[in-house]
Parts: sequence; structure tokens; C-alpha cells
Amino acid sequence: MLRASFLYLSHRRGLQRFVTRQKLTASLAYRFVAGDHLDDAVRVVTDINRRGWSASLDHLGENVTEERAARVATDDYLAAFERIAAERLNANVSVKLTQLGLDISPDLCQELLTRIVHRAQQLDNFVRIDMEGSAYTQRTVDLVLALHERYPNCGLVLQSYLYRTVDDVARVNAAKVRVRLVKGAYDEPPDVAFPKKAEVDARFEAEMQQLLSDGAYPAIATHDDRLIEATKQFAQGHAIPSDRFEFQMLYGIRRDLQERLLREGYRVRIYVPYGTEWYPYLMRRLAERPANLWFIVRSVLRERRAA
Ligand SMILES: Cc1cc2nc3c(=O)[nH]c(=O)nc-3n(C[C@H](O)[C@H](O)[C@H](O)COP(=O)(O)OP(=O)(O)OC[C@H]3O[C@@H](n4cnc5c(N)ncnc54)[C@H](O)[C@@H]3O)c2cc1C
Repeated sequence: MLRASFLYLSHRRGLQRFVTRQKLTASLAYRFVAGDHLDDAVRVVTDINRRGWSASLDHLGENVTEERAARVATDDYLAAFERIAAERLNANVSVKLTQLGLDISPDLCQELLTRIVHRAQQLDNFVRIDMEGSAYTQRTVDLVLALHERYPNCGLVLQSYLYRTVDDVARVNAAKVRVRLVKGAYDEPPDVAFPKKAEVDARFEAEMQQLLSDGAYPAIATHDDRLIEATKQFAQGHAIPSDRFEFQMLYGIRRDLQERLLREGYRVRIYVPYGTEWYPYLMRRLAERPANLWFIVRSVLRERRAA
């Protein structure tokens, strides 16, 4: 119920304008977001790298409605790749197709994505295309598969809550496209997605095995202890070395788990969002764990009283 409410609110543009101006919600957002600017993200990633994790930078933004905004987002990503190279960061980049104008024109989106992937290839880096709501799944899979023929340095995300994902995993494995497996963060109807968490988890486990067995350097992206344990067990049981895959987690979530995996010798990449367009991202994080709201509000108020 609360999950659905937060996901509904994530699309309300009017509320976005109001909420992003409030100091309290901004403090809340910065528990999950590196800061407003690329400089903030570079500072966070430098620290993350120093501690042993790699990173994926996400310049927040989605569902842009103007071509100019899509072109600005592209330039921001190109600038991020230059900084990564200049500062020798261990980081790649994650982009959303609706941030590159998919809602405006598929041709525009393809042109901008190609520019980013092309520059990343010149810099020997990698672009991960995030997966959004199910209305975009087919177009995202098709676009990435086509682009991957020319640019093997791009990969995509598949969501275990979708019925179709088992087939998508087989298709992208055959093409040797790198996959990040996630449970899925959007509000999907029961005709496209499993409604029950237990089913989503079971599919995640099966698809994790499919990816570890036949995939190209898959990323297992979850904070779920049980599924992380299942991944470790499967890899050990099938003699899959720990440098053939990586775990991924979100900045600000389950730091204890991120540290433990690193100590155990696994590769861990932290997804680091930055930018001012944090509202839908924050709403999805609250939807995953509504208790975050009370936990964070309490700690922000405590910090204020102590200041
Ligand atoms: C690196 C990365 C990239 C992602 N990219 C995408 C993408 O492109 N498309 C997409 O649809 N989704 C994406 N997601 C989000 C994903 O789909 C899930 O919504 C999210 O990871 C929560 O699911 P979970 O696997 O952690 O399991 P859950 O069962 O939701 O959570 C397991 C445990 O993790 C902890 N936890 C989970 N979420 C939170 C939170 N928000 N705050 C605090 N604790 C939490 C809790 O302890 C919880 O008990 C991404 C996730 C990660 C880690």
C-alpha cells in the first residue's frame, strides 16, 4: 500500500517542485544522493575507490520532454567520463533512455546514446543503460542489443519482477551483453510482473544462476542477504571465480553488507546518483523501504537539535 503510494507520488511533477524546495526533504535525499554537482560525485567516488569499491555514476534525470534537456544531459555524461579519466577513478556511468529523449524521439535517443557510448569506448570505459518502467523494456533491450554489435562497452539492466525477463536473459546472454540483474523498482500491473515478493525473489535466484553460468560478467544488484548468500553459494558450487561477476548496491544503503562482501574478497560496485533531479529516485527508495522515511526524519531532527 505504502509502496504503491510512493511510486504514485514519484510521477507527480507539481509535488516534485514543492518537495525539492523543502530543506527537510533535501536533507533526506542526500542520504541517498552524493550531492548536486559532478564535483560532489567525484568526491564521493574518490572515497569509495579508496575504500576498495568501484562505482557507477548516475546523473539524475528521467522522462525529459524537451530535446534541449536531453542534449544537456548528454553533455553532462560526456563531462563525467572526462572527469573519470582525468582523476583516474574506478567508475563507469549509468544512464536512463528517457533522460536522453526516448519519450520525444527514438532517433534522438539513439543518436545521444551512441555519442556517449562512443566517447566511453575511446576512454576504455563502460555505459550501463538502466531499466525503467515496462513501457520501455522492449525498446531498451532492442536498442542496447543493436548498439552492442558496434560497441561491446555497453550493457543493460533486467528486472526479475517481469515475466519476460527469463527470455531476455537468454537472449542477451547469447549476444554476450553484460547484464545488471535487479528486482525492479517501478509500479507494474500483474499482467506484466509477479505481484508477490516471494515469486520475484525466486525468479531473481534462477536468473542469477542463468547469468553466472552463461552471462558476460554479470552484476548481481541487491541488498537482500539471502540472495547474496545464494549467489556466493552458487558461484562456489560451480567453481565460478569471484572476478567473473560483481555485486552492486546503492549509495547509502546497507553499508555493512558492502563492507562485508569486500572483506570476503568479492567485487562490489556502488551506484552513486548525483544532481538536483533527485525526487523520483528518492520516492523509489522510500517505496522499497517506507521505514526509511521515519528513520531519516528522526535522525535529521536529532542532528538539527544537536547543531
Ligand atoms: C546498483 C543498483 C542499480 C539498480 N538499477 C535499477 C534499474 O536500472 N532499474 C530498476 O527498476 N531498479 C533498479 N534498482 C533497484 C532494484 O530494482 C530494487 O528496487 C532495489 O535494489 C531494492 O531491492 P533489493 O534487491 O535490495 O531487495 P529488497 O527485498 O527490496 O530489500 C532487501 C533488503 O535490502 C535493504 N533495502 C532495500 N532497499 C532499501 C532502501 N531503499 N533503503 C534501505 N534499505 C533497503 C533492506 O534491508 C531490505 O530488507 C537498482 C538497484 C541497485 C542495487
